[in-house]
Amino acid sequence: MRLSLANLSRLPADIRRPAYDVAAAQVGVVHLGVGAFHRAHQAVYLDDCLARGAAGWAVCGASLRSPDTSEALDPQDGLYTLAVRSGTGDDLRVIGSLRRLLVAPRDPSTLLAAMCDPNVRIVTLTVTEKGYCHDPATGTLDEAHPDIIADLANPAVPRSAPGFLVEALARRRAAGVAPFTVLCCDNLPANGETVARVVARFAALRDPDLGRWVEAEVAFPCTMVDRIVPATTDADRAMVAGRLGMEDAWPVMAEPFTQWVVEDRFPAGRPPLEDVGAELVADVRPYELMKLRLLNGSHSTLAYLGYLAGKETIAETMAEPAFQRLVARLQDEEVTSTVPAPPGADLGAYKRALRERFANPALKHRTWQIAMDGSQKLPQRLLSPIRDRLAAGAPIGFLALGVAGWMRYVSGTDEKGSAIDVRDPLAARFKAVAETAGPDADRLAEGLLAVREVFGADLPTDPRFTGAVKAALGRLYAEGAAASVDAATRG
Ligand code: NAD
Repeated sequence: MRLSLANLSRLPADIRRPAYDVAAAQVGVVHLGVGAFHRAHQAVYLDDCLARGAAGWAVCGASLRSPDTSEALDPQDGLYTLAVRSGTGDDLRVIGSLRRLLVAPRDPSTLLAAMCDPNVRIVTLTVTEKGYCHDPATGTLDEAHPDIIADLANPAVPRSAPGFLVEALARRRAAGVAPFTVLCCDNLPANGETVARVVARFAALRDPDLGRWVEAEVAFPCTMVDRIVPATTDADRAMVAGRLGMEDAWPVMAEPFTQWVVEDRFPAGRPPLEDVGAELVADVRPYELMKLRLLNGSHSTLAYLGYLAGKETIAETMAEPAFQRLVARLQDEEVTSTVPAPPGADLGAYKRALRERFANPALKHRTWQIAMDGSQKLPQRLLSPIRDRLAAGAPIGFLALGVAGWMRYVSGTDEKGSAIDVRDPLAARFKAVAETAGPDADRLAEGLLAVREVFGADLPTDPRFTGAVKAALGRLYAEGAAASVDAATRG
């Protein structure tokens, strides 16, 4: 038996299910990048909106890459299980807000038609940081990106997220349909502004007048999204099937914590998100800095150094006292001074909660998963606070240790001499640098510091930064990650 609308009534009583007529819900949101995070975050808020009677805010989810989600969920009428994992067990709930699934590479025109539906007033995105085809160091469109070149040459059959957004917006404009609001839910710095810049530039390259229209007419509110959502494993599928008494091909796993702070700028209208726990604010920036620098910066540092120390998950890494000290000292002594507290927030309580969230053993979040795409993540997570600290003349030892951990990781060989499966759009460049440097830590650091898309033009010429990173990388090679973290955090 498989999860489906017809089988909803056969679920055991302890499984929550949609408290509304799922089949009657109307699509008002198109989501690009329908991965685990969207399904455990935005789709849950919208499920709650639907349950409160806002029937026009169901989701059409599209993948711009793999058909995997569509193939898993289509036979289930788009239904899937959210398992909220904590020390007290797994709380299961079936989500009904995903009403339609599309696979862009198979049929781009159907996705464009869905994006042009006048009932669709918001396009949300979680296409990962690299999906915006931008230069992470400058936050501008990477005009040499192969997908951008392809989409400029053939705009009616796009491949990239900017390509789909601009083609759909251009078609709506031509048809006299008001533009949708673009809501980026990826962990980019100033995500609305960054995506606005990238999309307006892409539109201008197609047609300067279209570029000006996008700048003037399309809203790109900023958001801060927070919920830890590890990739689903086969063991998770088996656990869910056991509880449901039926198969669910792709449930999603999440921690209990969830937060969504949204800039309230939706000219075409929006669902009543404030009624379902989201925070609608005028300025997202302080929330975003708090989250990107304290949560994501610590997460990446734990991921690189934990992986090198042989740890499979973040919880395993956080079980080590030396890594607990590292997170505490990184956050308290270096990052907090670069984070303005959002209105009403208590940074001390936020950090304590973060450390508990990282240590949640029920959440098997792999260090390898978080280590992915570091070139796209490092600038906002570790390098921006480093710039702020250097400007203030303040020490950066723990932040530099995180950067050195990334360098040691992207060298592609672990401490036992085994290969690391480095996933990153710039992985081939890192491999070439590592091959040239061999076991020489200074040469590896110099080669990687020259990757301008990550470090920009300023940091590689600041000896306070390069010196701290080289020293930390040298110790990582000489002593290993576990001993380096232990030594760095004592005293
Ligand atoms: P996932 O692997 O489950 O899904 C990623 C989605 O992005 C897939 O739909 C994939 O097809 C798409 N994608 C990947 N590369 C792309 C590209 N180049 N162009 C277009 N689409 C592309 O991952 P996830 O857990 O859903 O995370 C996705 C993003 O969500 C993260 O990168 C992050 O920005 C944000 N996020 C995730 C979490 C989390 O805990 N998982 C927390 C906060 C924010």
